[in-house]
Amino acid sequence: MRVSNFFISTQKEAPADAEVASQALMLRAGMIKKLAAGLYTYMPLGLRTIRKVEAIVREEMNRAGAIELLMPVVQPAELWQESGRWEKYGPELLRIKDRHQRDFVVQPTSEEVITDLARSEIRSWRQLPVNFYHIQTKFRDERRPRFGVMRAREFVMKDAYSFDRDFDGAQRSYRVMYAAYQNIFQRFGFEFRAVAADSGAIGGSMSHEFHVIAETGEDAIAYCPDSSYAANVELAEALPLIPARQAPAEDLCRTPTPGAAKCEDVASLLGLPLSRTVKSVVMAADTRGDKGQVLSTQIVLLLVRGDHAVNDIKVSKLPGMADARMATEAEIVDAFGCRPGYIGPIATAKPLRVVADRTVVNMHDFVVGANVEDFHYTGVNWGRDLPEPEVADIRNVVAGDPSPDGKGQLAICRGIEVGHVFYLGTKYSAAMGASYLDENGKSQTLEMGCYGIGITRILGACIEQNHDARGMIWPEAIAPFTVVICPIAYERNAAVREAADRLHAQLQEAGMDVVLDDRGERPGAMFADWELIGVPHRLVVSERGLAAGTLEYQHRRDEAPTSVRLDGVLAHLR
Ligand code: ATP
Ligand code: MG
Ligand code: MG
Ligand code: MG
Repeated sequence: MRVSNFFISTQKEAPADAEVASQALMLRAGMIKKLAAGLYTYMPLGLRTIRKVEAIVREEMNRAGAIELLMPVVQPAELWQESGRWEKYGPELLRIKDRHQRDFVVQPTSEEVITDLARSEIRSWRQLPVNFYHIQTKFRDERRPRFGVMRAREFVMKDAYSFDRDFDGAQRSYRVMYAAYQNIFQRFGFEFRAVAADSGAIGGSMSHEFHVIAETGEDAIAYCPDSSYAANVELAEALPLIPARQAPAEDLCRTPTPGAAKCEDVASLLGLPLSRTVKSVVMAADTRGDKGQVLSTQIVLLLVRGDHAVNDIKVSKLPGMADARMATEAEIVDAFGCRPGYIGPIATAKPLRVVADRTVVNMHDFVVGANVEDFHYTGVNWGRDLPEPEVADIRNVVAGDPSPDGKGQLAICRGIEVGHVFYLGTKYSAAMGASYLDENGKSQTLEMGCYGIGITRILGACIEQNHDARGMIWPEAIAPFTVVICPIAYERNAAVREAADRLHAQLQEAGMDVVLDDRGERPGAMFADWELIGVPHRLVVSERGLAAGTLEYQHRRDEAPTSVRLDGVLAHLR
């Protein structure tokens, strides 16, 4: 590639609103261009890296036996109503109408569409297991789009969905994806960690997040250097079993104003031993008619993270709050299929149903959750504009705390979630009637898993881990270009021009992703551009070097250039 046939647009200064290095550097280098909050044009330079990221992900997915297809970005609301997510998803879901006033969504993920496909295409156990994936544009109307492509509203995700005959099969599919993710993030050269995203009462971890380790990460990770224990800090402390207790009704009425409930308030109100990090409280509130009869009971799992009650609004707005009380443990087990204090794969919990003598109505008033971050996959109510805890709020687990596996002490680091593997069980297949016939001709519900990788977020995460004062430093696997040829006085000096052209042709022929800077820029400006862009290998062609039969070579991480013989360049680069 010649720069004269390409488009390079670098800037000296980062825009004032850039909060993290990757965002500032991507904008300055002209990899992305902001269109509106959370909406970016992937500029030619950025797109080259995105395509390389996609290629690696695609290769490893194919190798793991997943099959690529491509599902639409716009999806009919009916499918989302069937799964229940039309009600539960909340304001992150972009809902649109067509010219006939029919409802559609712009997909944040594709569980519904793939389950719809499975129920019509999968008939027999002979077709299983099968894992479909696509690399497609997603839209999530993030409450706080920020950090450039890392928390965008429109972004590109690889999402895969596995279908299996039974739990064991689903576990195998999960493990295959887990291994594929390890390979993918290793190929990017990341320092990363797979962390448990829920405690998995069903046996083993049913959800893992893959985090790129970076100071600027939005998540805190607790891990044990002496064992394989690693968890999102939200889960680092197993929640204690909280004995159910009747809270005096009048006390609950004093719950602070909507949006303002704090951890301490809730703790003192309910007399609960809420300590650090996330705590959850399950509450039930009856709505009574004028004769005092119970019309409905609302069960609320109050998630508290740091000093924010994540779903605080619910507590103070519950109708019939005068009758609010803690649910008994039996009720919770009955309703959620898990014990109070448990945070686990709600996706696999039984659907909510009638609780004892009270009628549970109004499904969208249920807020049950595991990792707060996982709601989008678990399809839990996120309907209100809930306050998102600040980064500082989850910096509560202290390094040195005992590791839950008893094998050592916890260390804390911060991470950027770049991938997520999730066991879904029959959440979608049961809701949407996706089944197959087993060997005995008996109809069985499909077991599912879903697996996401944030393709465009990977760019930001990579830069957070690989940059210096001068700019980005791309790993070879996903650099926009691998080698840059910088000729000194390309336009004026015929010998330099010829040598640079020849070298360019030679490297291209050798299959290298090489770019020739034929703009005729001054060396200082030219070097600064390529250091900002972060191309790993730089070759400088100069009159003086040519006279000695050499080029100047410098890796982006090298302190100083070294001299390489012209005829040894290829070998040097390999
Ligand atoms: P987060 O906790 O950061 O909001 P998530 O848990 O909501 O992410 P998933 O539903 O697990 O995200 O989606 C799979 C992957 O998609 C994530 O691991 C992440 O890499 C990527 N992703 C999610 N939201 C965004 C976003 N707003 N911008 C860019 N990438 C995203
Ligand atoms: Mg998350
Ligand atoms: Mg999210
Ligand atoms: Mg996730």
